[in-house]
Amino acid sequence: MKRRDFLRAAAPGSQEAPLSEAPAVQTRPRVAWRLASSFPNSLDTIYGAAETLARRVEALTEGRFRIRSYPAGELIPPLEVLSAVQNGTVQAGHSASYYFQGKNPALVFDCTIPFGLSARQLNAWFYYGEGLALTRELFADFNVINFPGGNTGAQMGGWFRREIGSLQDLRGLKMRIPGLGGEVMNRLDVTVQVIPGGEIYLALERGAIDATEWVGPYDDEKLGFQEIAKHYYYPGWWEPGPGLSFYVNRDAWDALPSAYQEAFRTAAAEANEHMLALYDARNGPALRRLVAGGVQLHPFPEEVMTAARRITEEVLEEFASDPAYRKVYAACKAWRDDAYRWFGTAELAYGDYVFGTGNR
Ligand code: CA
Repeated sequence: MKRRDFLRAAAPGSQEAPLSEAPAVQTRPRVAWRLASSFPNSLDTIYGAAETLARRVEALTEGRFRIRSYPAGELIPPLEVLSAVQNGTVQAGHSASYYFQGKNPALVFDCTIPFGLSARQLNAWFYYGEGLALTRELFADFNVINFPGGNTGAQMGGWFRREIGSLQDLRGLKMRIPGLGGEVMNRLDVTVQVIPGGEIYLALERGAIDATEWVGPYDDEKLGFQEIAKHYYYPGWWEPGPGLSFYVNRDAWDALPSAYQEAFRTAAAEANEHMLALYDARNGPALRRLVAGGVQLHPFPEEVMTAARRITEEVLEEFASDPAYRKVYAACKAWRDDAYRWFGTAELAYGDYVFGTGNR
């Protein structure tokens, strides 16, 4: 039965629709939101999550709740997305919370920490552990509510003009790398810069940076780094499974009918899952193309991995003097210990035995 027919049947006395539609208009108002993304729309993966969200919200509300997404810089500069949502300039945003660690160091746990959780482990922590509740406490200070909004999976370690054979080879390099990974690199004497995705190519081409990381084969190929640097390192130990987030202004959220909130929640969860699936689908073929095109793959030297992990532990402990950080850090660490125990068993044995032959 169509909705209009149903309403007529429910109110047999009225022949005309307008009277019986009045309550429906109140509970299903037309809502138009603007969403600012920190990412360029050339990247269908990481930017695409905002479009998945918008498309599904619109479908689930029969077109009554519309979200228009704006790529990085079109409405809001990419690193000002959180402020824009906080201020209500836009109702929603899509970003990586470690961009905002300067506002509160604990925000990194909404995204990733070096030697932290994988994508699956992070999702488990958000949906079935304390992750979402703890990070929402942090975002409450910004009048923002956060939703998991995609994941890239374990990232690559990035593009270098010259081979990195030792710790010494990192010294003095100018590298684009955000988050705590940047802080760790800084302590390995790398000169660290945070540059939004859409601006990296130019910085690398002009020599403003010697090396960069972004995400992985598919995105990196699109951004064209292989045209400038030939040495492609792995793993991106600073981003083992970075989670992106949707931000919603709390007042805008509270003004939504509950059915629209549910539509948003559902659409965000779908966008979260689909971003990871899209990366996993696209990265394999892209890696094959890059290698065929002459890119040289290298694992980071053992001494780089060892030093980075040691310094990571120091950095993570230093921030723990902040009570808000300490609370989330302790919870994340406990979760990580159990997750590593589990993933280090069947998943690792299987992956090591089966996938490990892929590059040999
Ligand atoms: Ca990255």
